Amino acid sequence: MFALITSECAGCKKIISYNPNHVPSITVDGERCPICRSCHEEWNQIHRIRKNLEPLPLHPEAYEPFEDEKFFKGENENEKG
Ligand SMILES: [Zn+2]
Repeated sequence: MFALITSECAGCKKIISYNPNHVPSITVDGERCPICRSCHEEWNQIHRIRKNLEPLPLHPEAYEPFEDEKFFKGENENEKG
């Protein structure tokens, strides 16, 4: 079973689906808030490229579904015995 988390992008407020383990995020009021692909690129421009720093790479699975381990466990139990 694969799952995705869906919420607002902290930058542009667009609804995005993402893998919480890999999605890029910014800190808003002390909380990590995920941002979308284009906001990540913009963030890189402002915070990295304009300062002559290497842009932070986007994880290839940042916006891909992730394996829901809890679900997996339950489903595989019968086959292991
Ligand atoms: Zn955005």
